[in-house]
Amino acid sequence: MAVSTPASPNLHQHLRDSLDGLPTPPRTGRLIVFTGPSGVGKGTLLKALRDRYPNLGLSISATTRQPRPGEVDGKDYYFLSREQFQAMVDNGELLEWAEFAGNCYGTPKAAVQRHLEAGEWLILEIELEGARQVRHTFPQALQLFVLPPSLDELEQRIRLRGKDSEDAIVRRMARAQVEIDAAPEFDVQIVNDDLETALQQLEIALFNL
Ligand code: ADP
Ligand code: 5GP
Repeated sequence: MAVSTPASPNLHQHLRDSLDGLPTPPRTGRLIVFTGPSGVGKGTLLKALRDRYPNLGLSISATTRQPRPGEVDGKDYYFLSREQFQAMVDNGELLEWAEFAGNCYGTPKAAVQRHLEAGEWLILEIELEGARQVRHTFPQALQLFVLPPSLDELEQRIRLRGKDSEDAIVRRMARAQVEIDAAPEFDVQIVNDDLETALQQLEIALFNL
């Protein structure tokens, strides 16, 4: 995606250059929780952010959901059967997990530990219940919530994305209001109306730009 230059170009460029040039740019590991209703643009924002800051890690979750067209196992998610997912739960291999719109989603613990021990920053793109669990296990994690400009716009985005069945859309919209009501629990709220503005707010939240 083409991303135009944000407001303080020199400062942003300087930060980007320093992040790009080093193998593990941030000196201490940091966990960042990124939550918001399905279709609000979390994936879009994170892709643009990681294009700018390639050293920001993104946790790959396990899920029992079927892959959407174009999704790759081991890259977008680890796509598991219910039995495989349950085995990870039973073995204590998930940092957090939750059921969302009829499927299970969870964060593999070992990879998180590896990233943090290596001093890296790692983003967890997870739903509300998982974010609440991480708030207990990692109270020092920065918790960000992305809001849509309106519920109508949210539904439009899910439909325009064109990758969910009608049933999945109804389930996601039913859950959206519950999630939005919980936004004040988070450290920072960002409205994803104009993408570039939302990205700048994300940079401020992460890097105090
Ligand atoms: P999520 O990861 O939160 O489920 P996506 O990143 O898949 O959401 O975005 C859902 C849809 O909304 C996509 O089609 C995406 O292109 C679109 N979208 C994302 N951000 C914006 C924005 N600021 N304005 C308009 N459309 C957007
Ligand atoms: P989707 O099916 O649209 O990819 O994801 C549905 C929801 O599950 C999104 O809100 C997404 O943030 C959330 N999600 C993805 N991975 C995880 C995870 O590992 N744990 C939890 N709790 N939620 C997740």
